[in-house]
Amino acid sequence: MTDEHYMRLAIEMAKQGDRTSRCSPIGCVLVLNDAVIAQAHNEVEQRCDPTAHAEIVAMRAAGTHLKRSRFQGAVLYSTLQPCGMCSMASIWAGISRIVYGAQRHQVHQMYFEDRDLDTIDFLRDAYKDDIAIEAGLLAEECAALYYGPDDDPPREEQANL
Ligand SMILES: [Zn+2]
Repeated sequence: MTDEHYMRLAIEMAKQGDRTSRCSPIGCVLVLNDAVIAQAHNEVEQRCDPTAHAEIVAMRAAGTHLKRSRFQGAVLYSTLQPCGMCSMASIWAGISRIVYGAQRHQVHQMYFEDRDLDTIDFLRDAYKDDIAIEAGLLAEECAALYYGPDDDPPREEQANL
């Protein structure tokens, strides 16, 4: 299957998430040897867990499924540029490739840390050169899931502000 196929699965996961609360619609799919080993959406609000980002939920599911904590060779697909926590977790998981859709500049600032923590710089600073990262796959479709840079999201949906 192609990267595009898996990113479309991630978009579907994002849409399945809880959109009635402040939970941002982020979807993630983990693929190993061309098979989906986990798929998840953001569950921060449902679980009352600030670490329950789609990527973390997917990694936990993959660990349970594979009965191990390292997924060398796996590819992580995310609809939005992974945050610092999820980038670091990807390093610990031994993930080989990260492919994401919408980039930071395409969405509202509430989705990210205040300072511009760039995922690629972050991985470089962690001295990881064995993890490939590709930005902007189906970027327009992924960005359409989120408030745009100039939108004014309802107060109750705003995170990080
Ligand atoms: Zn994250």
